[in-house]
Amino acid sequence: MQAILNADLHCHSVVSDGTLTPETLAARAHANGVALWALTDHDEIGGQQRALAAAQALGMKYLTGVEISVTFAGQTVHIVGLGFDADDARLRQGLVDTRGGRGQRAQEMAEGLAQVGIRGAYEGALRYAGNPELISRTHFARFLVETGVCRDTPEVFRKYLTEGKPGFVPHRWATLHDAVHWITEAGGQAVIAHPARYDFTPNEEYALFTEFKAHGGRGVEVVTGSHSAQEAVKYAVTAQEFGLAASRGSDFHSPDESHTDLGALPWLPGELTPVWELLADRIQ
Ligand code: AMP
Ligand code: MN
Ligand code: MN
Ligand code: MN
Repeated sequence: MQAILNADLHCHSVVSDGTLTPETLAARAHANGVALWALTDHDEIGGQQRALAAAQALGMKYLTGVEISVTFAGQTVHIVGLGFDADDARLRQGLVDTRGGRGQRAQEMAEGLAQVGIRGAYEGALRYAGNPELISRTHFARFLVETGVCRDTPEVFRKYLTEGKPGFVPHRWATLHDAVHWITEAGGQAVIAHPARYDFTPNEEYALFTEFKAHGGRGVEVVTGSHSAQEAVKYAVTAQEFGLAASRGSDFHSPDESHTDLGALPWLPGELTPVWELLADRIQ
């Protein structure tokens, strides 16, 4: 496996908060020249078999994937898992538990929105959720755009769904320890998703990377649709400092919302170890 490979190891389907099916995503990835693909739905691996079957039918290499929600130092951090055994019982139960609070959280989000005059948001968001177990802020955002409350999803997040705003409900997700262990003990590799998107102090970020490594984490996303070119350079340096392999993924959710299409990313910097080198025997 070479460093220059059109690998896209981060995207979402209707099984979480994407708008396309696993099959449509596979076809789109293949059409865009992706050679190694992973579907990484939030807290859910219900789309893995469909994604693998669709990739194999197209002659595209596949790694199992998931993006686990974690609470670390009071913030939500996303840990991508790649190349795990999707039948692993502990991983599956961990994901069930992580998804568990989403329904209640969504009801509380709707109550917060009702207090500022936005009615019916729970039912509205649920209509956009392809998987009722996986109702997310993205589904609320789509409802608020559709009903004309906001122009686009970034505006919804800014005004309603981030800390201190009426639809924001603090939530405790999985621990960093558990997420990394579920993934690695199922034979996969854990990867810190889009590190530039967190609001950590330098000390907190150092703690995140140090503890992640101590738990057995081996990778970090360097080239992602969620990073600017400068942020990719910064985390290429961080990957080398911490001795982590680098991952590459669009974080594609929807043709209407995502500015980075599947596979449409810069190459990983040549001096880094691609995470797929650690996963050569897990590629299907
Ligand atoms: P949740 O897991 O319910 O907290 O939802 C998190 C999801 O919301 C992320 O995976 C993104 O898809 C989306 N999201 C978070 N922040 C923003 C933002 N500022 N603009 C658009 N989408 C966002
Ligand atoms: Mn998402
Ligand atoms: Mn994420
Ligand atoms: Mn994502």
